[in-house]
Amino acid sequence: MIPFNQPYLTGKENAYILEAVANKKLSGNGEFTKKCHSFFEQRYNFSKCLLTTSCTDALEMAAILIDVGPGDEVIVPSYTFVSSANAFILRGAKIIFADSLPNHPNIDHHKLEALITPKTKAIVVVHYAGVACEMDHIMHLAEKHNLFVVEDAAQAIDGYYKGRPLGGIGHLAAFSFHETKNIISGEGGMLVVNDKRFLKRSEIIWEKGTNRSAFFRGEVNKYEWVDLGSSFLPSEVTAAFLYAQLENLDDIQQKRINIWNKYYNKLKFLAEKGLVGIPEIHDLCSNNAHMFYLLTKNLDHRSSYINYMKSNGIHTVFHYLALEKSSFYKKHYEGIKLPESHHYENNIVRLPLFYELTEEQQDLIINKTIKFFLDHI
Ligand SMILES: *Cc1c(COP(=O)(O)O)cnc(C)c1O
Repeated sequence: MIPFNQPYLTGKENAYILEAVANKKLSGNGEFTKKCHSFFEQRYNFSKCLLTTSCTDALEMAAILIDVGPGDEVIVPSYTFVSSANAFILRGAKIIFADSLPNHPNIDHHKLEALITPKTKAIVVVHYAGVACEMDHIMHLAEKHNLFVVEDAAQAIDGYYKGRPLGGIGHLAAFSFHETKNIISGEGGMLVVNDKRFLKRSEIIWEKGTNRSAFFRGEVNKYEWVDLGSSFLPSEVTAAFLYAQLENLDDIQQKRINIWNKYYNKLKFLAEKGLVGIPEIHDLCSNNAHMFYLLTKNLDHRSSYINYMKSNGIHTVFHYLALEKSSFYKKHYEGIKLPESHHYENNIVRLPLFYELTEEQQDLIINKTIKFFLDHI
């Protein structure tokens, strides 16, 4: 069976983990954590990065930082992973779900202003498949209404919008290094702090609500409980693993982009014939090759395609049930229908895309896909 995903190891992970062990500093914020922070701060010019145990945790930190609470509303896309919403519900906020664009699963920025009320505190944007949301428009709206923008950049590493790195545009941003993402550490994530007002407090929340980081730098003479917080920092073992990946970021990205381009070039004629949709990348952003998906015409087509591929030894997957229809949230949901989100919910199917996917495997996936859509649709 060709798997949907296979975590890629660069070869340096074990050596760096052994080094972390030999350093006898295994808790968080050691040498490897600092190396990872500097990597991101230098490469993308982010003002401050904090590794976290997951993107989910980074989003929870963002929710604490912007002081969201009961009575506040947070606008979140309907078509996304649960963590984009959970982080804010955990603080007592009400979620206002937003629809996707007709030509891309990203949040429809044209329809955002209508969702803003005096209670709105923040907008969460998700750069789906690493493709940038319309950030100039969204940041302008946020400024006009005095809102925070949190980028869920879980899928967006090394992605750009008008030449600016994703994760560096909103007030705060969260990345994921889960093993299904481009750069991995098993479980892992990172908070990026772009708004300088949050620099100091972010470190405190990260360190369980204490001023331990300032203490270690000699800025205060005792460390104590000063704010809300939790255990958001990963151990040095995780950071060591991640650092090996970061050193190979360009190689990993190039490989993924080559695979993505081959899918695109070989399958686009199916889209031209109107048999199936393929991803659209608008001019203002780069392609970080996080995901290659097809967009079927209806749920029946998608189910038959997935079964057909499975019977040929190829694992393809779909994801994201519209969050407002989930069993957890539907009883609270009083908003409007979100047809584009429901369209993606029923029709997106993701093809295998990982570093070690071979030419032969990819040819098989492409040939079977072509056969399915020419013969069965
Ligand atoms: C993967 C993902 C997350 C969760 O990341 P974790 O690191 O597993 O917590 C959140 N949002 C989006 C859009 C994702 O794709």
